[in-house]
Amino acid sequence: MTDTIRFDAHIGGSWTGSSALIDVREPSDWDNVIARVPALTADVVRDGLATARKGARLWADTNALTRGQILFKTAAILRDRSAELATLLARENGKTLAEATGEVAKSAEFFEFYGGLARLPYGDLIHDARPNTTTTVRHEPVGVVLAITPWNDPLLTPARKLAPALAAGNAVVLKPASNTPAIALELTRALLDAGLPSEAITTVTGKAGEIADAIIESTEIDAITFTGSTRVGLDLQRKVAGRNVRIQCEMGGKNAAIVLADADLELAAQTVAAAGFGQAGQRCTATSRVLVESSVKDAFIKRLVAIADSMTLGPSLARDTVVGPLISRDQQSEVIGHVARARAEGATVVTGGDTGEGSTLERGCYVVPTVIDCDSADVSIWRDEVFGPVVAVLAVSSLQEAIELANASDYGLSSALFTTNLAATDVFLRDIETGQAAVNLPTSGWDVHHPFGGFKLSGSPYKEQGLEALGFYTRTKTCAVRSV
Ligand code: NAP
Repeated sequence: MTDTIRFDAHIGGSWTGSSALIDVREPSDWDNVIARVPALTADVVRDGLATARKGARLWADTNALTRGQILFKTAAILRDRSAELATLLARENGKTLAEATGEVAKSAEFFEFYGGLARLPYGDLIHDARPNTTTTVRHEPVGVVLAITPWNDPLLTPARKLAPALAAGNAVVLKPASNTPAIALELTRALLDAGLPSEAITTVTGKAGEIADAIIESTEIDAITFTGSTRVGLDLQRKVAGRNVRIQCEMGGKNAAIVLADADLELAAQTVAAAGFGQAGQRCTATSRVLVESSVKDAFIKRLVAIADSMTLGPSLARDTVVGPLISRDQQSEVIGHVARARAEGATVVTGGDTGEGSTLERGCYVVPTVIDCDSADVSIWRDEVFGPVVAVLAVSSLQEAIELANASDYGLSSALFTTNLAATDVFLRDIETGQAAVNLPTSGWDVHHPFGGFKLSGSPYKEQGLEALGFYTRTKTCAVRSV
């Protein structure tokens, strides 16, 4: 057991506690409550939103260069506090210390990238047929942005949303996942320490079932950016329909990798293992399906299984851990349930598929890296998002068949092809229906300046990251002035 840290939420421009609390448990050792955060009520949250509106005015009036400097300072604070933040993140989420350290660094990069972009031109001079008329287009902040974020990258996802939203001059209301609120509150602290006006950031903690509707229904919210499950994302879209609130949703995935017979099989196996089992498979861009040309399927599975079996499963802070636990007992049961269903439907579990042995693993929410050989695409493990360290493999006879099967999914987030054939690369990049497509590279690992977002039920028309993100966080005003 360890000491439990008590955190406050940030609402109405100040840190605010509550007598009702949410326990934050450690996935590596489920009996440990590492933090407690306020379980805010709908009324408290509703009252706090008027401050966010004030914050939006104040921040929009702040010079863009100053806004950029505050974002740079936030990045510097994240880097200075990296060791402490990475430890909290690893303990709260279960990812390894190396993964958590990488997440802190990448979160800082979001603030650096958008800190620089705050200086971008924010409009254009355009032609006008009328005499003596000067016409301009201005991109202005939309106002108050609500960011709802999941537990799997609990620092990175808020950073991906808050950095462009704040660079563009919006105030933000952040609602982090209830499993991982502490690191989001540390990000809030970093922003305030960097000089962000306290009214410009509201971070509310509480179960979505209690507080989400109060925020979503508030007229103080001008835009909603959501990352999480497809079920909740679609539900949010239905809830705001008819109100003309702009909404961006990044949702589930079932990412496929295609391995052709001419591929470097060792590269393919290493890359699929890293993208499939890294972060215990809890990345939206994790590889969870592999379509392998039949002549190399056995050789590929042999390599993948050897890598999976060599990955040390253990607590997030242990030095030799390569794969950490899942986020919770519920998630662990759900993943084990997916594997049991696959077995019952006739698929072969080649390795893994259980929670591991020994007292250390029993205390946490572990699932052993798992490889499943599917004889047919007609098994639920092939279709359903698992969100755990489970990779399903299926033999195909051609690239065309592989692309058809990869596209036969409700999701369209990310994909990869392994080949040494340029023509195959060209066909794949043209025909694959995913928002991200990689060749001889993992389905995961996209950089802060790469536009990011899914097709079909994985995403919505607005992309995140890169220059494209700014489109969601700004509205366009066309202005004409006749001088005489
Ligand atoms: P989730 O259950 O949808 O929760 C995500 C967030 O939404 C949490 O903050 C949650 O709060 C909140 N929420 C839950 N119900 C809500 C409601 N009715 N109204 C408003 N907000 C609500 O997803 P998750 O289990 O945390 O995350 C895993 C999912 O995220 C996976 O499907 C994964 O693929 C997806 N994901 C997608 C991307 C992407 O970029 N496409 C990236 C990462 C993750 P509480 O925690 O309080 O319930």
